[in-house]
Amino acid sequence: MSQQTRFTLSQSDIPKQWYNLNADFPEPLPPPLHPGTKEPMPPAALEAIFPKNLIEQEISAAPWIEIPKPVREIYALWRPTPLLRAVRLEKALNTPAHIYYKYEGASPAGSHKVNTSVAQAFYNKEAGTKRLATETGAGQWGSSLAFACSLFGLECNVYMVKVSYDHKPYRRMLMHTWGATVHASPSDQTEYGRKLLAQDPHQPGSLGIAISEAIEDTVKTPHTKYSLGSVLNHVCHHQTVIGEETIKQMEQAGEDPDVIFGCCGGGSKFAGLTFPFIRGKIKAGKKYRIVGVEPSACPSLTEGELRYDFGDTAETTPLLKMFTLGHNFIPPSIHAGGLRYHGMAPMVSHALKLGLIEAEAYHQTKVFEAAVQFARTEGIVPAPESAHAIAAVVKEAVKCREEGKKRVLLFNLSGHGLLDLSAYESFLHGKIQDV
Ligand SMILES: *Cc1c(COP(=O)(O)O)cnc(C)c1O
Repeated sequence: MSQQTRFTLSQSDIPKQWYNLNADFPEPLPPPLHPGTKEPMPPAALEAIFPKNLIEQEISAAPWIEIPKPVREIYALWRPTPLLRAVRLEKALNTPAHIYYKYEGASPAGSHKVNTSVAQAFYNKEAGTKRLATETGAGQWGSSLAFACSLFGLECNVYMVKVSYDHKPYRRMLMHTWGATVHASPSDQTEYGRKLLAQDPHQPGSLGIAISEAIEDTVKTPHTKYSLGSVLNHVCHHQTVIGEETIKQMEQAGEDPDVIFGCCGGGSKFAGLTFPFIRGKIKAGKKYRIVGVEPSACPSLTEGELRYDFGDTAETTPLLKMFTLGHNFIPPSIHAGGLRYHGMAPMVSHALKLGLIEAEAYHQTKVFEAAVQFARTEGIVPAPESAHAIAAVVKEAVKCREEGKKRVLLFNLSGHGLLDLSAYESFLHGKIQDV
């Protein structure tokens, strides 16, 4: 063996704490507002939908949050995840750049989302919750929460965006396998769903609508809490195990990244990889360029407005200060279902506003070109979401070649695409269009 290309850690290296960038932002994060009073939301008002222990994390300013032992024990099923150097992709691109990726796709549900679903199920169980309600787009989040609920003996009730429910059956089957109940949203389970169905029985649904249904379900059903797979502060904290492990693995590799890329849906996974590196920018004078990559069809960071907006369509959530396309925006149906959200995590939005990160948007054809090139060189078929980051990395690697400069590039491969093969088939048959 000549060159080391795979950097692994042992089970004892699973982080013991999550990192909270809110402790280190040079300016504090604007708080969520009560939609009625426009005053900062009193934490107790969140108790209708979240357990107290997670609300504490949501508003915490402490830099580190202890990861409970039972959560670390479950993490050990797939963590620490590997960091790999994509030497074959480098060669195919004929680039002097070194390309590293942190791979989150070997988890039980196939993506990073279980990093937070396990934590949320744990804290809800501790708080006496019996049942969780949530929404899901293409099913990645719903299946991740279904998995976590099955381990902790919680009921899981999922509102799945109707178009995906009909066209993406496999993650629905995964949810059923893990014991969850799944409704196509809009559904007849909630008043809001019934109202929308009466207006249009063929309403395709959206994440914003499904969130509204899950929240209505939560407040109307005893012993039920709501769980969200991205966007919120505590979700961003939970994902930082990705970045903390990566820092150690980059040290193993003997390199420090120049540019770090992550795809952005609600932003939690991007936060998870990059916030520990942003800590280095703020506290250790590191010069990383950190780039959030999003679909051109749902460009909240690159074309949205930074303002207070609702997280859902029915206007039931607190107002969050975030880059948003407006809570009534229904994104065109692109294949990266996990990136179709109208807003962006307030913490990620704040990092962009403070100039700690930048953002780029890519069209789906470029994204799938990069995805297929990655699959044919590195072997892993990436989730269409993750492939957004690959498209940006490929562009940067080509730039390195043109400039004759070696740069170290790092990205997060957030999940595998083995349940998204129909999207690959469409692409290979020339049927994918930019919207
Ligand atoms: C959900 C999902 C994303 C988006 O994650 P956010 O944390 O909401 O930005 C990215 N990649 C994969 C594979 C996903 O399942």
